[in-house]
Amino acid sequence: MSQQPVNRALFDEVMVPNYNPQQMVPVRGRGSRVWDQEDNEYIDFAGGIAVNALGHAHPELVSTLKEQANSLWHLSNTFTNEPALRLAQRLTDATFADKVFFCNSGAEANEAAFKLARKYSYDNFGPEKHEIIAFYQGFHGRTLFTVSVGGQAKYREGFEPAPGGITHVAFNDLEALKAAISDKTCAVVMEPIQGEGGVIPADPEFMKGVRELCDQHNALLVLDEIQTGVGRTGQLYAYMGMGVKPDILTSAKALGGGFPIGAMLTTDKVAPSFGFGTHGSTYGGNPLACAVADKALELINQPELLRNVAHKRAVFIEELEKINARHEIFKEIRGDGLLIGVELIDSMHGKAAAFLAKAREEGLMILMAGPNVLRMTPSLIIPDEDIRDGMKLLDSAIAKVVAAEKAVA
Ligand SMILES: *Cc1c(COP(=O)(O)O)cnc(C)c1O
Repeated sequence: MSQQPVNRALFDEVMVPNYNPQQMVPVRGRGSRVWDQEDNEYIDFAGGIAVNALGHAHPELVSTLKEQANSLWHLSNTFTNEPALRLAQRLTDATFADKVFFCNSGAEANEAAFKLARKYSYDNFGPEKHEIIAFYQGFHGRTLFTVSVGGQAKYREGFEPAPGGITHVAFNDLEALKAAISDKTCAVVMEPIQGEGGVIPADPEFMKGVRELCDQHNALLVLDEIQTGVGRTGQLYAYMGMGVKPDILTSAKALGGGFPIGAMLTTDKVAPSFGFGTHGSTYGGNPLACAVADKALELINQPELLRNVAHKRAVFIEELEKINARHEIFKEIRGDGLLIGVELIDSMHGKAAAFLAKAREEGLMILMAGPNVLRMTPSLIIPDEDIRDGMKLLDSAIAKVVAAEKAVA
């Protein structure tokens, strides 16, 4: 074997090129700070894409993981286990749901949700009622079924033939949904805030209208809360602040605080359609993931922590507005809680990646949501000081990108 140094260059040699990671390799993190191989420090506004809701290496998550690692890792679903039962109990106590299915990722949670919606309609109304309606710009994962329900053609192109029986309509357009929904619709699938699609919140009136249309047509409302859930908006799940209850909800990302897990939540009415043998996952509900998620959920579902999300958002907004007063570069700041989307002005559309790369050079991790929107999904407990320090780095990154643009023009 060759003795290649383990660095960013090695990525291009040994990894499939479906990602293009930043030009450094992070090696450790603590709270909202991360260090790379050269010991450069970064402030983390990305939070692993809304995953590290308690920051990096949270001591209580670390000790829970170690404790579970010393007792039981894996059994398969031939046996149940205590961490899975505790987590299911915690999730059902805290939400609309009566029943839970565990898996390992967001896409798998949605795969389960869409299959369950089909199966429920099949069992109760017959095979004709199988159509799924979803929204343009929606994102639901990267399996073939989930890219098909997702509303961005670029994730689907080249992978056809795609599964059928799926229709897309404009988000926040109740008339469009009204025109598309029928008694053949088995489910309407939506994110309370479209994350990957550009951080676009659903209007509360639209959400209520969707629920009513679902009820009129015996269609299930599937809420994809993979990005919005587990405290991100200051509610445990975003639906709790919107006056609407789903029939199925999917959760992942922050649920494990960085340990892979996904969950599909549903009601006693719908759950029986996933009868014995109808669906499964080897790793789903394994003790390691469930122990960590149970601790993460316990720590996050605290009134004080959830209340504080609005305060953290206010600090972010205040600092972003200061930056905008200097550079006039943001068209709109949107989202809810610590799911923050910043749309660039029209003349900077298409350039989000340049801001991302420059921010990283300055020592700040941020995200994008499409080519026009900067996105921040930090730890829910990021210290105010880290927010303000990070914003200084963002300010200088923006100054540099703007100067470079002017030099070209
Ligand atoms: C990230 C995300 C997914 C996919 O989750 P994976 O864990 O990457 O499979 C699905 N839906 C939404 C809304 C997401 O943000």
